[in-house]
Amino acid sequence: MAARLLSGTRVAEAIRAEFLPAVAAFTAAAGRAPALSIVLVGDNPASQVYVRNKERAGAAAGLTVTIHRLPASTSESDLLALVRRLNADPACDGILVQAPLPHGLGKAAEQRVFDAIDPAKDVDGFHPHNVGLLVQGRATLAPCTPSGVIELLEREEIPMAGRRAVVLGRSEIVGKPMALLLLQRDATVTICHSRTQDLAARAAEADILVAAIGRPALVRRSFVKPGAVVIDVGINALTARQQVIDIFGEGSERLKSFDAKGSTLVGDVHPEVEHVAGCLTPVPGGVGPLTIAMLLKNTLAAASHRAPA
Ligand code: NDP
Repeated sequence: MAARLLSGTRVAEAIRAEFLPAVAAFTAAAGRAPALSIVLVGDNPASQVYVRNKERAGAAAGLTVTIHRLPASTSESDLLALVRRLNADPACDGILVQAPLPHGLGKAAEQRVFDAIDPAKDVDGFHPHNVGLLVQGRATLAPCTPSGVIELLEREEIPMAGRRAVVLGRSEIVGKPMALLLLQRDATVTICHSRTQDLAARAAEADILVAAIGRPALVRRSFVKPGAVVIDVGINALTARQQVIDIFGEGSERLKSFDAKGSTLVGDVHPEVEHVAGCLTPVPGGVGPLTIAMLLKNTLAAASHRAPA
C-alpha cells in the first residue's frame, strides 16, 4: 500500500491563516507591521530563490520584508557593520543572513556574522544564546526547519512520546535541533551521521525517520520499517538526466519535467520508500513550505516580544 503523503504545503497554509489575525493585531497596536530584514550576499542561485520565496511569503502574510543585497566581494567588517545597524534599528524585528555566505569570507567569518545578530532578532534560531535555550527546552526562537517538522507531526496527530525517532544528519541547522525537539516531545532519539556504522539498520529501527543529509535518494526501502513515518528534509537539485532515470525511471513524470526544465528536485529519500512507509513528506511540497511558515512565525514572535501588541 502506498504511504499517506503529508502535505507541508497544506499545513503551511493553515499556519499562515491562523497567523494573519495576530499580524493584524500587532500592526494595529504597534502602528507598523512586524519587520523582517534579510541579508543576501553574492549571487548563489539557490539562495536567490530561497530569499525570493521568503520575501513573497512574508509580504503575503502582511510583514514588511526588506532585502539587503550585497556583492560577493563584501568584506566581513562591512557585513558586521550592517548586522549591527539592523540590531540597533528599532523598526527591525527579525534578521536573517542567508547561508551560505560566499566562500571567500570563510567559515569562521560566517560564524562571527551569525554570532553578531541580536539574539532577540535571530529568527533563524542559530545564535548560541538561542541554541542554549533550545537545549534547555525553553526556546522562543527555534530553527525553522525542525520546528516546521514538529508542527507537521503535531497537526497530523502523529504521536512522538515513547516512539523511536532516528535523525539522519547532525547539522547545526537541521539534524541537532531536530533531535532536541523530538527528545523534548519524549521520543527516544538516535542521531546518525557520515561515520555511523550500518546506517540502514539504524534507520530501520525508527518509528519516525527524519532524513536531513543532502544525499539524493540515499534512503532506500531497506532503511525503513514498514509503516514508519518518514520525513524527507533533503532538497537536492538533479541536473544529470541519467541520475533522474536511475531514481525515477524511464517514462516517469519527473523525467518529462526534467526534460522540459533541465533540472528537478529530489529529497534524501528514494521514491520506492513510498511502498513501505506509513506516511511520507513529498519533495517538493513537504518540509520546504513549513520552513518558510515557521520563519514568519518567528518574526511575529520576535516582534511581539520586543514590542508587545
Ligand atoms: P549539512 O551538509 O550541513 O549536513 C549533512 C549531515 O548529513 C551531516 O551531519 C553529515 O554527517 C550527514 N551525512 C552526509 N552524508 C551522509 C551519509 N552518506 N550517511 C550518513 N550521514 C551523512 O546539511 P543540512 O543539514 O544543512 O541540510 C541537509 C539537507 O536538508 C540538504 O539537502 C538541504 O538542502 C536540506 N535542507 C532543507 C531545508 C528545507 O526547508 N526543506 C532547510 C535546510 C536544509 P557529518 O556530520 O558526519 O558530516
